[in-house]
Parts: sequence; structure tokens; C-alpha cells
Amino acid sequence: MENGAKIYVAGHRGLVGAAIVRALEKQGFNNLLLRTHKELDLTRQAAVEDFFHKEKPDYVILAAAKVGGIHANSTYPAEFIAVNLQIQTNVIDAAYKAGVKKLLFLGSSCIYPKFAPQPIAEDSLLTGPLEPTNEWYAVAKISGIKMCQAYRLQYKFDAISGMPTNLYGPHDNFHPENSHVLPALIRRFHEAKVTGAKEVVVWGSGSPLREFLHVDDLADATVFLMQNYSGIPHVNMGSGSEVTIKELAEMVKEVVGFQGELKWDLSKPDGTPRKLIDSSKLAELGWEAKIPLKEGLVETYKWYVDNVAC
Ligand code: GDP
Repeated sequence: MENGAKIYVAGHRGLVGAAIVRALEKQGFNNLLLRTHKELDLTRQAAVEDFFHKEKPDYVILAAAKVGGIHANSTYPAEFIAVNLQIQTNVIDAAYKAGVKKLLFLGSSCIYPKFAPQPIAEDSLLTGPLEPTNEWYAVAKISGIKMCQAYRLQYKFDAISGMPTNLYGPHDNFHPENSHVLPALIRRFHEAKVTGAKEVVVWGSGSPLREFLHVDDLADATVFLMQNYSGIPHVNMGSGSEVTIKELAEMVKEVVGFQGELKWDLSKPDGTPRKLIDSSKLAELGWEAKIPLKEGLVETYKWYVDNVAC
């Protein structure tokens, strides 16, 4: 991406998009094209085509998606599949038609089969059944990868895909039921501390393993891929380090400063038992994560206190 290039970041108000905007600005890219959901509804094909036709961005980073944790995915399956398919199909197709030089599509590690060998390499895609709790979202994201590949093959459109592991950081969704585990726990432990509660309920058994990547690391990796990778296969984007949900809960408890007990709610689903992605391809390209989980948690908790908690 050259200096002064017009870069459209779709989804700039979200966890990922906001971090990508920060990373681009830090690296001196200041001709950014941004639209709020209200200004441009990406599920409306005509509106998206019109926007691309008028604005003619040079580069596109597609970080707009309907996202949520284990509960949200099972409660809103129709929205998770339909909205994501609409957003990505409209943006990828309109970008190609408007002569965009390069597009990066962001997905998620839940695209992989539930029992894929760990750490999960890129070529595990479509080798087995998905985790049922988020298959709707996963099927949409798999379609996005395939669409980027198809547009490269048929139209020579430079579309690439990056698949991040579980992300966290400022601007996350801290909704008590619908968010992912890390922001949900930050909120629950904080509220328990403030109200003086004796215990905090954590979902599931605590044994599932999850890998977490700070969103500023992800944003840095995204800009890196835009500048250093063009190819058919998608690229995993992970930190390489994993924790159990129990270890995570203990860490959040300590960072927040909650003094009470943890209680495990076994009626809630555990989801997939382990989800570590193999990020060796990204490492070979020359990128690796820099922010340790503990440091990222401290900073994310501070952001939550300053911006969300009342
Ligand atoms: P996943 O990584 O796609 O399974 O999505 P989540 O981030 O929603 O859940 C990760 C794991 O954390 C699962 O094993 C959940 O049961 C567990 N978990 C524990 N407490 C919570 C919570 O309060 N909210 C969520 N979303 N998950 C929790």
C-alpha cells in the first residue's frame, strides 16, 4: 500500500476495525475511508455498489461482520448466516467491480472442523463437521474465503483472507450474555467487585482451551499481510499461546481485583474442547505476536472501566 492510498476499512467501529484504523494511522496512512453502519448498510447491495462507484477506494480491509459468542450464535442462527453472507458478498463483488487493487477479508478460526488436528493448519479447512454452536457464522466465513479465491482465479482480483484466533481488546462487546468469554468475564468480575458479590458464575467446565490474540497485534498483522502476501490460501493469525477457561477466569479475577469465589455453571455449553491455530505460515512470512495476555488484559480492563462501566 503506497503513501496516500485510499483505504476503506469496513466495520471501523468494531473491535477489529477500530484497531486496524489505529494501526494504519500509526503507520502514516491517513487517507482512510470510513462509514458507520447508519451511513452505509452493507447488507444492501445497491447502496454498497453506489458507495464503491462514487468513492473508488484503492484498498479494502473487510472487518465488518455480525459477531458474537456461543450464546448469541445459537440464539440468532438466521442472522449470523444471512447478514454475514450479505455483507461479504456485497463488499467483495463491489470492490472487484470498482477496480480495487487489493482486498483483505477477515474471518475467524471457527471455520475449522470441530475435531481438526491441533494446532489447526490452514489446510484443515473443509475436512470435517463444524462445531454446531457457531456453524452458521462459520459457513458464511468459509464462503467468504472461497469467494476471494474464486475472484482471484477467475478475475485476477487480488483478494486475500486472514483467519484470526479469538481476539480481545478495547472496543470489544461487553454484553453480559452475547459477548465472548473474555469481555464477559471482565464485566462479570468487575460488577461482582463493585457490588460486593461473594461469587462469580463462569460458564461450562473451565477445561476448554482457547488461544487469545490482542486486537492491536491482529491489526498489525493485517497491515503486514496487505503489504506482504498475495495468494490463494488463507492465512491463520494467532498468538501461539493458549490457556484453559479456568486459567483465564483466574487471570481476569486477579486483574480486576475480585476477592470472592468462582462457581462453574455446567448447564452452559463448553463449545469446542480446544482451538489453537497453527500460525507458522504467518511466522514464515515474517510476523509474530508481541502483546502478552496478562499485559493485554490489564489494558483491556482499564479501557472497560474508562469507557463502558458506570
Ligand atoms: P467460542 O470460543 O467460540 O467457544 O466462544 P466463547 O468465547 O463464547 O466461549 C469460550 C468458552 O468460554 C466456552 O467454553 C464457554 O463455555 C466459556 N465461558 C465461560 N464463561 C463464559 C461467559 O460468561 N460467556 C461466554 N461467552 N463464554 C463463557
